[in-house]
Amino acid sequence: MRVYLDNAATTPVHPEVVKVMTDVLSNVHGNPSSIHDAGRKARTLVEESRKYVANMINSSIGEVFFTSSATEANNMILRMTVKNLGVERILVSSIEHPCVMRTVEELANEGIDVVYIPTNEVGRVDIDFLENNLKQSDVKTLVSVMYVNNELGVIQEIPRIAGLCKEYSAYFHTDAVQAIGKIKIDVQETPIHFLSASAHKFHGPKGIAFVYINNDSQIKSFITGGGQERNMRSGTENVSGIVGLSEALKHYTEVELKKIAVLKDRFKAGLKKGVPGISFVEDKAPELFVPSILSASFPSTPKSDLMTFNLDISGICASAGSACSSGVEKVSHVLSAINFPSERRAVRFSFSYMNTEEEIDYCIEKITNMFD
Ligand code: PLP
Repeated sequence: MRVYLDNAATTPVHPEVVKVMTDVLSNVHGNPSSIHDAGRKARTLVEESRKYVANMINSSIGEVFFTSSATEANNMILRMTVKNLGVERILVSSIEHPCVMRTVEELANEGIDVVYIPTNEVGRVDIDFLENNLKQSDVKTLVSVMYVNNELGVIQEIPRIAGLCKEYSAYFHTDAVQAIGKIKIDVQETPIHFLSASAHKFHGPKGIAFVYINNDSQIKSFITGGGQERNMRSGTENVSGIVGLSEALKHYTEVELKKIAVLKDRFKAGLKKGVPGISFVEDKAPELFVPSILSASFPSTPKSDLMTFNLDISGICASAGSACSSGVEKVSHVLSAINFPSERRAVRFSFSYMNTEEEIDYCIEKITNMFD
């Protein structure tokens, strides 16, 4: 048996997504910018998808732009707020994805004041630290805090953080890659200026993502060219990918979310019973974590020291940290930020509604056997 528990790295494409994308690839070959019939057909599909995404986050259609990845979207927001909106300071959580971390590091080299917001032991950002920093100075500031952390699964207090940004007139960006589909997001209710998400994290295709840019905080294009996406993102639209993205979102309902939660609970209970000394990062406050991600902490043993390798041999795909750091024998910046004990071994298991109880039981048995 092979079991895929690395859904925070990427997810299998939903069969319905494959179907609609195949249909588009086979039958809709027009360029959405062309004004003839073939072009208009492609344009209609792109705009229907945009409408679906906009409805889901309660934005207007004109505030949603498709990009090639969340990495591109995050780069665009961080760099263009500096360039176009006069941002001189960025307050960023210390557990962001590398596509945010590396970008703010570069911006710091270019003279931007970058301040890292510390987190507590479960990975929640220190709100008092954030507020004190916002109070201290009135230079144009961008706050960037991810909705859900990809290594831990912790959910940040986004409505509160967004509220503080509004109070102190700062721009607010959230990387919602691990949250979209799993947490209800309403950009009218929560004052978010910029938000990013990526289709391959919710059973859509790789290489397509979207960015929400609030009408009142308009930036200019990061990629210049033919002026697609209303001048915001040049490059011929990835029509099948865009259709696949919106189709994938349609398959996240309460039923799927409940299923993921049941699988995680079963997995946790099984491991607690079978593995002496196991604990979970979320132990102190499991309600603050998404059901799709579980960060497990194993005692160090010859087998757990090579845990992801041994899991792979047993047919289980999981990750030592984020996808980007897996295979690298270095504690991730996220685990360092929460002071994860160096004598313990962290493994991220991440679930999807495509996993089954049989798969979970198989994994529990294999992992338990490693500690016999
Ligand atoms: N942000 C987070 C939180 C992620 O987990 C990832 C993917 O690993 C990304 C951004 C990057 O997304 P993409 O693969 O679309 O560039």
